[in-house]
Amino acid sequence: MSGFAAPMFSTLLIANRGEIACRVIRTARAMGLRTVAVYSDADESARHVALADIAYRIGPAPVAESYLRIDAILEAAQRAGADAVHPGYGFLSENANFAEVCGLEGLTFVGPPPDAIRLMGLKDAAKRIAVEAGVPIVPGYHGDDQDPEVLAAEAAGIGYPVLIKAVAGGGGRGMRRVDAPDDFAAALASARREAQSAFGDDRVLIERYVARPRHIEIQVFADAHGNAVHLFERDCSVQRRHQKVIEEAPAPGMTASLRAKMGAAAVAAAQAIGYCNAGTVEFIVDAERGIADQQFFFIEMNTRLQVEHPVTEAITGLDLVEWQLRVAAGEPLPLRQDQLAPSGHAIEARLYAEDPDAGFLPATGTLRRLRFPPDAPGLRVDAGVAEGDVVSPFYDPMIAKLIAHGADRAEAARRLAEALAHTEVAGVATNAAFLTRLLRQPDFLAGAVDTGFIERHGADLLPPPAPPSDTALALATLAVLAQRRDTARAAAARSGDPYSPWHDTGGWRLNQDLSESLTFIAGDARYGVRIDHADGGLRLHCPGGALSGVAHFAADGRLVATLDGARLTIPVVVGAGRVALSFDDRAYDLMLDDPAAAADLDEGHAGSVAAPMPGKVIQVLVEPGAAVEKGQPLVVLEAMKMEHTLRAPAEGVIAEILYAVGDQVEEGAALVAFAEEE
Ligand code: ADP
Ligand code: ADP
Ligand code: MG
Repeated sequence: MSGFAAPMFSTLLIANRGEIACRVIRTARAMGLRTVAVYSDADESARHVALADIAYRIGPAPVAESYLRIDAILEAAQRAGADAVHPGYGFLSENANFAEVCGLEGLTFVGPPPDAIRLMGLKDAAKRIAVEAGVPIVPGYHGDDQDPEVLAAEAAGIGYPVLIKAVAGGGGRGMRRVDAPDDFAAALASARREAQSAFGDDRVLIERYVARPRHIEIQVFADAHGNAVHLFERDCSVQRRHQKVIEEAPAPGMTASLRAKMGAAAVAAAQAIGYCNAGTVEFIVDAERGIADQQFFFIEMNTRLQVEHPVTEAITGLDLVEWQLRVAAGEPLPLRQDQLAPSGHAIEARLYAEDPDAGFLPATGTLRRLRFPPDAPGLRVDAGVAEGDVVSPFYDPMIAKLIAHGADRAEAARRLAEALAHTEVAGVATNAAFLTRLLRQPDFLAGAVDTGFIERHGADLLPPPAPPSDTALALATLAVLAQRRDTARAAAARSGDPYSPWHDTGGWRLNQDLSESLTFIAGDARYGVRIDHADGGLRLHCPGGALSGVAHFAADGRLVATLDGARLTIPVVVGAGRVALSFDDRAYDLMLDDPAAAADLDEGHAGSVAAPMPGKVIQVLVEPGAAVEKGQPLVVLEAMKMEHTLRAPAEGVIAEILYAVGDQVEEGAALVAFAEEE
């Protein structure tokens, strides 16, 4: 990648975090720019901070106090001597005021002019612009009169089902589908409430609900010299709660003539508002009878780089951030429309920290393990976090984007499914297995996608979790014992006192006739494994029968286990009272039922009892100064809708209770500290 023809700026501040900040830094650096990151207190050791040439703190973790603070970001820009700002996506990227003050401060804003952002910022205004530019819109009402009676009458005129949308909406919020007139008033009230709290604007518009909607969007690019092109389409129909899950290019079934029509319409919409830089024009296509001869309808324009831009990069071989920077520097678009052609097929999957079995509830926690498959043909991984990082409740729970490119759609889907199946994440729930199943689903492979896809195939995509197999339970048991042995050895080596009760390994003493049990919780059920220490190994009595095994941890953190003579090397993470392991294309997250058995698994926690998971303290059963027996209940924690009693790992004296009843605690937080032994 070459530098700029005539440099207009040399230091770029990235006003964002996570994967997109990392991705922008990569290209900026390749073009010879100095890069400046900004970060909140929660992101002090985040990847984007480490990656940039220099970084400045802009405030506490909540976005309103950091990543949305225009003054703090401008101050960082000034301190760093930045002369350009890239807003990424989300946060301030579609804030016209931010773009404007950047300009006033002499900073080049890598994005469209403030007026273009403003014009497309509200969905009603955007639809009026589209109509003027001759771009078809979804039939509906986008007038100023917001009287509920008027809106209800408009809905009746449009014909049910209808979709109520917040005029200021984004991210699928403030949107309600209404199937019958009787439900309209309630849906309107709730859409308004959500819109008011999310956007501070409760105005809505109403659209006909397109029967079998496909979301097809066009990537556009315009420069300051009057040139504009489109970089083809992306299909983002696979959604949940109106949010994209899988994105691909080209759109399945797309024809050359429809592509040309949609491309021209998107470029016309952009030119109608004097657009410059990267943008995306979103359309809904009615897929009821296939898309070839169907109509398409403008729904909105996103005036920024999109999360899913890598699929466009994969099929065009272009770097869209490079184009953004060139255009911002005043250069003309690098290519004309007739020099652009798509090649192959690309699919992106958004790997989220969330629990598909719990309605895709966002998950938080420490990424105790995070490994992506090694470089494979056509595979790209854009991540903003690394192993050991925390997925906090403050920001979007996206862990990474995986993008696969192939000669055709089948190859791209196969490569992506393969990559997801070999992605190792432990510590937080993810949608990895769900995405893998989705990418292998026959209807998906046939290209039969629309926005109802996930709901329609729910049974296939979200099978009820099967109970853990005996092999999985045996592996978990071996992992716990191997970890306990390693921890005890390390602690004994540190203290020089191999007889300290904190180092009691409680098992794994070869040739001793000890027997103990571990109980794991998975879902709502408990599974016990009794362990007999037999000659040179262990006999593991699982619910379905007994297995013989030994195991140790390899240097890369994997567990090397021999079970009934078969050698298995698998990713396992043991800690904080749980065992996460991947085996046979399945991820298991097993909780140890007895925290006393779990207590000595974690290094650095000797002398205290830590919360095995995030939760709320609902009972404290001891006081400072109390002498306790091994196994005595200390604290009751409520987490994951269950109560967990945390017990003393050994006898000792309580030094301090660090939390009170009602306190919310993080995973790993020390709850009770023991007095040092004499
Ligand atoms: P849309 O669905 O409107 O097309 P995109 O899916 O392209 O929008 O991306 C915007 C979304 O990305 C925002 O709604 C927000 O949830 C999420 N987001 C914003 N900032 C970040 C960030 N720094 N890292 C990860 N995700 C983000
Ligand atoms: P947002 O700003 O939240 O991204 P959009 O207007 O882009 O809002 O709509 C989000 C999603 O809702 C679309 O991707 C599509 O799946 C669905 N959708 C939007 N408009 C319609 C419609 N008229 N009929 C059916 N589905 C729609
Ligand atoms: Mg949208």
